[in-house]
Amino acid sequence: MKKSKFESGRQAAKILALLSVGTCVAALMAGEGTPLQLALAILTLVLFVSIFTVAAVRCRCPHCGKTVIFGLWNATTCPRCKRSLTTGNKIKGKK
Ligand SMILES: [Zn+2]
Repeated sequence: MKKSKFESGRQAAKILALLSVGTCVAALMAGEGTPLQLALAILTLVLFVSIFTVAAVRCRCPHCGKTVIFGLWNATTCPRCKRSLTTGNKIKGKK
C-alpha cells in the first residue's frame, strides 16, 4: 500500500529529529568555543527549524487541512475533525 502524504511527512520529520539529536550531541562533544561546535550548533538549529517546516507543510489533515504538530508522533486522528490523518475517513466508534 502506498504511504499517505501525512505518513511520509511524519517519517521525514522523525528522521530530521534523529539527525538534530545527533548533531546536538556532536556539538556537545566538540571542543567548547571551536568553529566545529558553532557549525554543529547551527546545523542543529537548521534541522530543528526544518522539522517544523516539514510538519507544517506535509503533516496536515487530509480532510480539513489542519496542521498537526503537537502530538505528531502518536497522532492518528485529526484534533479538529476527528478523522483519520492517514486516510481522511471517519473513525468508527468515536464521536
Ligand atoms: Zn481534520
